[in-house]
Parts: sequence; structure tokens; C-alpha cells
Amino acid sequence: MILYLEHNRFHYELENITRLFFWKVEVREENPQALPAEDWCCVSSRAEDGRVLFTVRACADGKRAERSCAVSPEAEEKAAEHEVSRILFGCLAEITGKRPAFGVMTGVRPAKYTANLIASGMTPDEAERYLQEHALVTPQKASLVRQTAEAGRKLWAMARPRGYSLYVSIPFCPSRCSYCSFVSKSTEKERKLVAPYVEALCRELDETAKITKDLGLTLQTIYIGGGTPTVLSAEEMRTLIGTVRERFGAPADGEFSVEAGRPDTMDEEKLLVLKDAGVTRISINPQTGSDEVLRRVGRRHTAADIEACYRMARSLGFDNINADFIAGLPGDDLESFRRSMDWAVNVLDPENITVHALTLKRASRMREGQEEIFSPEASAMVDHAEEALTAAGYAPYYMYRQKGTVDSLENTGYTKPGYPCLYNTFIMDEVQTIIACGAGAVTKLLDPAANRIERIFDMKYPQEYLNRFDEMLQRKYYIKEFYEQYGV
Ligand code: SF4
Repeated sequence: MILYLEHNRFHYELENITRLFFWKVEVREENPQALPAEDWCCVSSRAEDGRVLFTVRACADGKRAERSCAVSPEAEEKAAEHEVSRILFGCLAEITGKRPAFGVMTGVRPAKYTANLIASGMTPDEAERYLQEHALVTPQKASLVRQTAEAGRKLWAMARPRGYSLYVSIPFCPSRCSYCSFVSKSTEKERKLVAPYVEALCRELDETAKITKDLGLTLQTIYIGGGTPTVLSAEEMRTLIGTVRERFGAPADGEFSVEAGRPDTMDEEKLLVLKDAGVTRISINPQTGSDEVLRRVGRRHTAADIEACYRMARSLGFDNINADFIAGLPGDDLESFRRSMDWAVNVLDPENITVHALTLKRASRMREGQEEIFSPEASAMVDHAEEALTAAGYAPYYMYRQKGTVDSLENTGYTKPGYPCLYNTFIMDEVQTIIACGAGAVTKLLDPAANRIERIFDMKYPQEYLNRFDEMLQRKYYIKEFYEQYGV
């Protein structure tokens, strides 16, 4: 799709809206002299009767649509952008026959947005109606967002003043899944980096703990993520988690999560290391219950391996386990996804289930290989997950979206009553400072009174992290400056 935007101040948002409908979008900052043979869309504007008249014309597969709206010159920028977005959305929906479920809501935090509507005085019913009427969100999605927002708001209240969560990044995996766009390195190629990485990470944790202690901050939750943290040997894990516990102490609310991720990295010894260190929640992620889909995406385990891993974790006393699933994996279809959900609920029976919609960013092997990428039924899968999990007693409690996701769908965390992961809500809804260590980690400093967020980036890749460690460590001292400067 070629999108013509001459002198258009809403460039960024209009491109985002167009990407809801077309995977490939080329933006040209001009008015077309002659219209191209391929699909095109043109947003133009002119002054008329003291107002600005915006017109959208679009054509795809021989179908054409045109809509206009007039905006007063005094209209706020956001309101004007919204009006133009709505007519663009209407034209593209008409010529493609598609109806993206989130309407013109392109933001990555729909639940937070909605929770803020409620916080600003709307009732939950009004907020849900507003999503439908103002942002053109479908009724089913508006209801899901509203439920998630209401659950999230209850958890926001648990964020303590001057509290923070600690995130520790292990950007290694045993091998790379074909859909993955994360910075993780495969230990098949980079195993030699793991030991020096763990050593450097312990140093960073040590220095960071001094800063948080100096400031008198309260550690509320810990999350060790990746990658696949359990790709570390039992000894490396003992060292790392021992450092975390020794330097930072126990989290005030007791929540300590580790992504155990893939069963091909798990064994009893490692689970015992986690248990002994006070880890309260682990993720063991099937992604799908179909062996054929697992094979196609390069996961080197079967559904039976996942079941065995769950049995082992349960027998060692883990009573809070999360299972990640992905809707839209290649080779999956609605029927097999339904079986995955049945299997999750009836066989694995985890406390948390997180349903992701497949996202492909530039780094993934699938996208590099230009393979037939998304299952066309992803949207129906996500809808089915909501119905099946709700019927099984799970409720949504956090949600986020990412660029490059099939049909611009969402990722939603569901929980059985009493098991929501505070860390997930704190980070996704940005209600608490997250102090992050390790390659690819991003510290987010929050000043709630001023609604201010500042970020500190660790180096992205393990080799870079090791090479530029001292320079990177210097950045961490900004944490102190932030708290002192803004009186947080
Ligand atoms: S999807 Fe997860 S397990 Fe697979 S390579 Fe990416 S980070 Fe590792």
C-alpha cells in the first residue's frame, strides 16, 4: 500500500492506522501526480470556510472509498488527529473488508489507557462505551479491555511509595525459535559468553543494590526473565540468585518470579535451586500443545516434555506457575489452538496463562526468510482463548500490544483468583519504578506525582554488555540523581 501524505502533521499516526490493514506500507510525502496501479491511499487537506477540510481517498483491489471531515483551526492537535484517523480507518475498512478489533486505538497499553479513563471519573460502563464509540473498538474487545483495566487498577493500589521491582535479564536461549525477535543469543553459538556474563551481571547487581539501599527504596518484586534464564547451569543459577538475594534481600511482597521457559533447559537440580532461593512463581511455556507446530517453529521439545516438567515442578512444591501460549503460529489453526487451550486448562492447570498474539519484528528468522508467516485465524484464536479461559475460571489482569503483531492484536495475562503477578501489572501499566540489570534490560524510573518516566538502557547484546561494562555501569548512577533531583 502506498500512503500519500503531503505536509501532513499526523504522519506517524496515519501510518500506524494504515498498518492495521496492510503489512507493507510505503509512505510518500507528496501528492500523487498520477495515481499508481497498485493499492494506494491519499490524505489531503485544504482550507475551506475558516476550517481545515481533510479528505481521504483510498483504493485497493479495484475498490474505492472516500471520506472527508472538517476540523476547526482551534481544535486540539490530538482531537484533530483523531478525526482524521477515524475517516482513514473507515475508508480502509471499506475497501479491505477488515475490521481491526482495536479500532483507531494504536497505543500499546489499552488497559492502562482505560484504567486512566476510569481514574479520571468515568464509570467502567462509560469507559467501555467510550472505547466503542470514540475509538471504534469492537464490543468484545472493549469488554475485555475494561475487565483488564478494572483488575489492573486494584493491583495498582499495591504499589508502595518508593517501592520498586527488580528485573534481571538473561538474554540466552538453548536455540532460537523461528518467530523470536528478542535479542536473545543461542547458547549453541555463544555458550562461552555465559560465564563471563553471569560474573559481570553479579557486579552490576552489586553496584545497583548499593544505590537502592542508599536511597532507602523498598524492593517489592523480583523478576528474572530472558531469554531463558534456566539455560544457566545449576551452579551459575545458584551464584546469580544468591547474589540477588544477598544484595537486595527478600522482596517485601514476597513475589519472586523466574522464567523457566523451555523444558529442554529444566531439571530437578535447577528447580531445587529456585525453590531454595525463595522463588515463588515460575513460567514453563508451552506456546502450543501441538508437537507439529512446535517442530515448525524450531522449539526442541514436545507437549509431553512440558507435561513432565509441570509434574516435576508441582512435586517440588511450585504452586504458582505461568504458561505462555501464542496465537497465530505458522501451521496452527483454530481447531488445534482450541485443543491447546483445553490441554492447558485440563492437563497443565497453571495458575496463570498468558496468551500472546504472534509478533514478528525485523530480527526474527521467519521474517528474514519471508516465510508464510501468520496463521490467518489468529484473531479467532485470541477470542477463543478469552472465552475458554474465562469459562475455566481465569480472569484477565494485564494487557499490552506490540508493533508488528498479527492483526494488531493484544497479549493478555489471565490468572486464577488470587494469583496475579504484580510485576507484570507494574511494568505494563507503568505504575512503579523498575530497576533492570543485564543485557537488553531497561530501567524505568517513575515519578508518579509528575507522571514522569525516564529510562536507562543497559547494552543490548551480551558481547557489547561485556565490552562496555564500565561505561554502562556509570549510567546506573543516574538512579540516585533522579530520586534526589525530583524528590521522589
Ligand atoms: S521465543 Fe523465547 S525461548 Fe524462543 S528464542 Fe525467543 S526468547 Fe528464547
